[in-house]
Amino acid sequence: MVVAPKIRGFICTTAHPEGCAKHVAEQIAVVKSRGSIANGPKKVLVLGSSTGYGLASRIAAAFGSSAATVGVFFERASEGDRTATAGWYNSAAFEREAAAAGLYARSFNGDAFSDDMKSQVIAAIKQDLGQVDCVIYSLASPRRTHPKSGEVLKSVLKPIGESYTNKNLNTGNGVVNEITIDPAIEDEIAQTVAVMGGEDWEMWMEALASANALAPGVQTLAYSYIGPVLTWPIYKNGTIGQAKLDLERAQKALDQKLASLGGKAWISVNKALVTQASSAIPVVPLYISLLYKIMKAGGSHEECIEQMDRLFRDRLSSGNPQPDDAGRIRLDDWEMAENVQDLISQRWAAVNTENFAELADFAGYQANFLKLFGFALDGVDYSADVNVAISVPSIP
Ligand code: NAD
Repeated sequence: MVVAPKIRGFICTTAHPEGCAKHVAEQIAVVKSRGSIANGPKKVLVLGSSTGYGLASRIAAAFGSSAATVGVFFERASEGDRTATAGWYNSAAFEREAAAAGLYARSFNGDAFSDDMKSQVIAAIKQDLGQVDCVIYSLASPRRTHPKSGEVLKSVLKPIGESYTNKNLNTGNGVVNEITIDPAIEDEIAQTVAVMGGEDWEMWMEALASANALAPGVQTLAYSYIGPVLTWPIYKNGTIGQAKLDLERAQKALDQKLASLGGKAWISVNKALVTQASSAIPVVPLYISLLYKIMKAGGSHEECIEQMDRLFRDRLSSGNPQPDDAGRIRLDDWEMAENVQDLISQRWAAVNTENFAELADFAGYQANFLKLFGFALDGVDYSADVNVAISVPSIP
């Protein structure tokens, strides 16, 4: 069938299998073009490995340091005329490329928050790899069923304490308007922390450690974001920011626990980029559109894959991760550079619907959004019939 994008708000309900495969191939090519990563991890578990930063992490580890990878994600296979989700096609393409390169890759589709998924994945690691030397925690989810209480917890993107009004982009039509978001109530803050905070990361590490599935010197990383003051009410000081604070608490606790193995837990603060998760955050898409224009003009723009390549190559494997005062790896260093942020502040004050095209990289934003779902990739014939029933080789 011919597959076209069907966009509903900040989600696209279709995905193009060949476009997703091309997107994965392009990311692999970026890593390969930079040569192999010396001292990179060799056996890597990636939680949230099908899209965004998790997929890029899996690609950088596999194609940068020839790592065996186990990936966990929550995606949907195709059903009749309904396409699979992009993460499904990405994972299918990743596994095919890994097999062609002689790399071990195994994937699990289901709820990473559950005890059952942890057991299945750890059994596979024990059987196939023995242990892992790197665990990437890159889940982004709107909800979590707590494995002990059974409670369904929901995360919200809201300010705390008072309502927040700022400029906002309608990503469908490029109109710059204003948005006001009411503050979260206590329970919403607690639930967001329970979904996006550190408890599940700790549960994974605990389960892996009890099964003796962590190799000496193991490194584990979870991803965070800080961003500029203008987004702080909705991000750093909002509900999601509280969850990220909890992630930092978990990092410190894990760091202590891993010391006996000579291991290390890290928070990596990454750059703001168009992903399925970030498209859903109010205000952020306008910021990203302005940021892309400035960073592209300055030659410092990166996508997820360049960020994750830099993480593995220049920080984790170089022996010089360059932590900040709080011990975090900062891959947002180029985003937060003074000259970039000065320009952001000026353009943020000035931006409106009329000058948006000139001040921001909306075309770049939209192309990146479409690419998340396998559209807008060069060299893919979108008018041709494609088989949407693609399997992920390691998933029965
Ligand atoms: P994403 O939406 O692209 O990826 C989320 C991943 O989580 C997918 O693989 C999805 O399948 C998986 N997932 C979700 N729920 C799951 C579940 N219950 N079980 C198993 N897998 C599940 O998101 P992303 O933007 O790459 O975010 C990953 C991390 O990076 C998050 O912690 C996010 O806060 C952080 N981060 C993102 C940005 C950004 O701008 N996008 C910047 C800095 C940090």
